[in-house]
Amino acid sequence: MKQNYVAWGRVKNCMRELTAYGNARKAEIGADRVFDFSLGSPSAPVPKPVWEAMRQTLQRPDAHEKTPPEGLCELRAAVAEDLNRRFALGLDADEIQIVTGAAGGLAVCCQTLLHPGDEAIVLVPYFTEYRVFIEGAGGVTVEVPPQADMQPDLDALEASLTEKTRFVLVNTPNNPTGAILSAESLARLADILHRAGERWGKPVYLVSDEPYRELVYDTDAIPCVMSAYENTIICYSFSKSLSLPGERIGYLAVNPGCADHDALLASLRETALRLGYRAAPAMMQRALISCVGMTADLSIYRENRDLLYSMLTSLGYDCIYPEGAFYLFVKAPVEDAKAFSDSAKKYELLLVPSDDFGIRGYLRLAYCVPTETIRRSKPAFRALAEEYGLEAKPC
Ligand code: PLP
Repeated sequence: MKQNYVAWGRVKNCMRELTAYGNARKAEIGADRVFDFSLGSPSAPVPKPVWEAMRQTLQRPDAHEKTPPEGLCELRAAVAEDLNRRFALGLDADEIQIVTGAAGGLAVCCQTLLHPGDEAIVLVPYFTEYRVFIEGAGGVTVEVPPQADMQPDLDALEASLTEKTRFVLVNTPNNPTGAILSAESLARLADILHRAGERWGKPVYLVSDEPYRELVYDTDAIPCVMSAYENTIICYSFSKSLSLPGERIGYLAVNPGCADHDALLASLRETALRLGYRAAPAMMQRALISCVGMTADLSIYRENRDLLYSMLTSLGYDCIYPEGAFYLFVKAPVEDAKAFSDSAKKYELLLVPSDDFGIRGYLRLAYCVPTETIRRSKPAFRALAEEYGLEAKPC
C-alpha cells in the first residue's frame, strides 16, 4: 500500500499541474488567448474508416460482449500480419496481446518482469510515468544520462548494467525529445545486452515503448527495435497514430525468438488478469480489426514541427531538432527550468519543465496543437526571449 502511495505521488507532476492551470486560465480569459503546449494529446482527426468501423461495430449484436483476456484472435492476427509485412518479424497472433494502451502494456511488462529489487534501466530524458510502473512493481529505476545532443550514452548504459538488470526501456521516437534511435545505436545496444546476458546467464530484455512509431518526419520509418534484438517486447498504442487516446487500446508483441518465450507469454497474460484489466475495450477491438496499419493524417505534426522549430530558433532559443513524435525540447536559458516555465505563464505560454522527464534545464513543448496556435504564439515567445536576453537570429 505504502509503495503504491509513493509511486502514485510521482504522477502528480508539473505537467498535470500546468494543464490544470491552463484549463482554469482558458476559462478565465478565453481558450484562444492561452498557448497551451503542455499536453501530448493528438489533434489530427480520427481517420474516417476508423470512425465508420466504430459506428458499424455498435450495430453488431456482439458489440458489447467480452473478449478473451489476451484480445480477439482476429485483431491479434491483423496486428501480427501488419508487423510482419512492415518489419519481417515472423510474428504469430499468439505473440500479440491486446492491452489498454502503451501505459497498460508497460504496467503489464513491469509487473511481469520485475521482482522486488530488480533493476530497470531508463534512458534520460524519459516519459514521466515509467518510474510509476517500475516502482509500482517493486523495481528500481536506474537512470542513464544522455550525451550532450540528447542521444543515448551507450557507454554509460553498459556501465549501469548489473546482475539485477531485468530490462532496458527504450522509447523511439522519444517523448520528450523527438529523437529516433538510429540503426547503429540499436545494433550496439543489442550487442551490449547480448554480452550482459551471456555474462550473467540470463536474458536482459529490451522493452520498446513505441506509441509514436508512425510519427516520423524525415524518413519513411524508424529502425525496428525488435529486428535488432530478439529479447524484445514491443509496447504499442493506437492513441497517437489513430488519435484515440481515450479509447485505451494498444498491444504487446513478443519476439518469436525471445528467451523463455512460452513462459513469458503466459505470464504477461496472467499479469493483465491479476491487475484486473481483464481485456482491452471490446468495442475498440472489434472496430480496429479492419483498421490496423492505418494512420490519421499526421502531416499537421510535420508542419507544426517545421514552423515551431524555425520560429523558436530564429528567436534565439536553443532547440533539439525533433525527428519524430510531436514534442520540441528546448534548452532553458537559465538553470531553473521551472522558474522559466513560471515566467512563460506571464505571456500565457504553457511549457513543461523537464524535471518531470528526469533532467534539469529544458522545457518540453507539445506541438500537437492547431498550427494557428503556433503562429499566434510568436509575439509571446518573442517577449519571453527578450526578457531573458536571447539573441534573435537575422532572417
Ligand atoms: N509512452 C509514452 C512515451 C507516452 O508519451 C505515452 C503517452 O503519452 C504513453 C506511453 C502512454 O500511452 P497510452 O496513453 O496510449 O497508453
